[in-house]
Amino acid sequence: TDYREQSLQSCIQRVIALTDTEVSRLGQRLIYEHPDEPVMLWMDPDKIVQLLLNLVKNAYEAMPDGGTLYIRLRRSGRTAVVEVEDTGVGIPPDRLGAIFHPFYTTKDYGTGLGLSISHKIVQDHNGTLEVESIVGKGTKFVLTFPLSDARH
Ligand code: ADP
Ligand code: MG
Repeated sequence: TDYREQSLQSCIQRVIALTDTEVSRLGQRLIYEHPDEPVMLWMDPDKIVQLLLNLVKNAYEAMPDGGTLYIRLRRSGRTAVVEVEDTGVGIPPDRLGAIFHPFYTTKDYGTGLGLSISHKIVQDHNGTLEVESIVGKGTKFVLTFPLSDARH
């Protein structure tokens, strides 16, 4: 692992560069909202990119007929908050616990590993990962992390 102080904006830009072709091929819109000032974390940047990539891939896979993918970044007190939201198929309430279990998938070619790996990466960064979803309306994953400048 390779921890350093880096901005969440730089990670999100990498994720967008890796996914924007697929997002537009699927007829989806991407809306990215972020502050101008860098939101700095003590992080392993490759791991944070992998985590965000998992969430963004799940979001666009949930909208095969198009929709809107929102990525929102903000500071809240001593934490950074990242939201990844889609207007896709949604998750039934009784499945919300299972989605973080390794190998749980509802996809023909899914591994079911994305969210369990993501959850581990969040824990390794002392963060939290929560999900809200409404079937037929969409899903929102909310991440929080301690800001690196909050340690002083
Ligand atoms: P995979 O994507 O390989 O199926 P994940 O661990 O990434 O594995 O996700 C597990 C399951 O959680 C998915 O198969 C899907 O049923 C559900 N899921 C995750 N994210 C979303 C989302 N944004 N919208 C709808 N369902 C989702
Ligand atoms: Mg996945």
